[in-house]
Amino acid sequence: MNSENFAMQEPSAVVHFDIFTLFPQMFSGPFAESIIKRAQENNLMTVAFHDIRNYTTDRHHICDDTPYGGGGGMIMKPEPVFRAVETVLSQPRGWTLPIEDAYVNLPPWQPEERLPLPADTPVILLSPAGRLLTQSVVTELSQYSRLALLCGRYEGVDGRVRSQLITDEISIGDYVLSGGELAAMVVVDAVTRLIPGALGYALGAQQDSHSAGIGGLLEGPQYTRPLHFRGEAVPDILLSGHHAKIAAWHHEQALYQTLRQRPDLLSKLPLTKEDRAFLWKWGWREEASTEGNAEG
Ligand code: SAM
Repeated sequence: MNSENFAMQEPSAVVHFDIFTLFPQMFSGPFAESIIKRAQENNLMTVAFHDIRNYTTDRHHICDDTPYGGGGGMIMKPEPVFRAVETVLSQPRGWTLPIEDAYVNLPPWQPEERLPLPADTPVILLSPAGRLLTQSVVTELSQYSRLALLCGRYEGVDGRVRSQLITDEISIGDYVLSGGELAAMVVVDAVTRLIPGALGYALGAQQDSHSAGIGGLLEGPQYTRPLHFRGEAVPDILLSGHHAKIAAWHHEQALYQTLRQRPDLLSKLPLTKEDRAFLWKWGWREEASTEGNAEG
């Protein structure tokens, strides 16, 4: 499959992602399924993949080199990265380099001439050294109509990419991946869920864990048929038809779930007096809540 060809180019989508990568094929499976696929089909979200290697002009299309100062591994060279990002972001949303122009017929570009980039398009490097991706960062990103995601490989990108090209650096967690592609997929997925119309159930995204709709708490247990399974019944309250009581039960379950799994979150959330009393009953002590998981 030609990666450039499966980029959709409808200019009216709510959010457009430009993804810069050495491995565009990695995206083909995850982006051709489920919510991400439907969001593209419905023109809510569009993606253009830009193979950084297509922006090399040397005979061997080299994108990496050894680090100055020694040390193992390779570093992504700055020129193809700058050239790819500056060329694409100088064009309207949806533009991709025609595949026949790769290497040989690139738009003019001068290594020493900084091309002004659109101020309203963040250029985000996926990086273990970036700020942590949280639901509030995802919400922040979902406000943009165009985002550029730069996927590192090898030991990462040349320092000048970080100092001069990118405007943001995002990590998906405190661990190291082999490349930024999986992290970029995570960003696209999380942002896409927030686009109105992307989810089958319109309120779904507001009621997920970490979302403002449930006060930033973690979602508690949910049930579907059958009523009884392996000796455990669905809680009676969920069959009561009493909406206010069901909502109160879900809220208490979310408080309890958060206390058990991520007590560190509680101190940052706007808890009511009743919330605090409930949590206190289950052993929460505010000053100890940053010290790890609560006991059972
Ligand atoms: N030498 C780099 C360091 O220590 O920070 C790690 C490079 S890593 C092997 C290669 C690429 O994977 C990075 O440039 C980045 O794009 C991506 N990557 C690795 N871990 C990541 C994470 N937790 N979040 C986002 N991107 C990550």
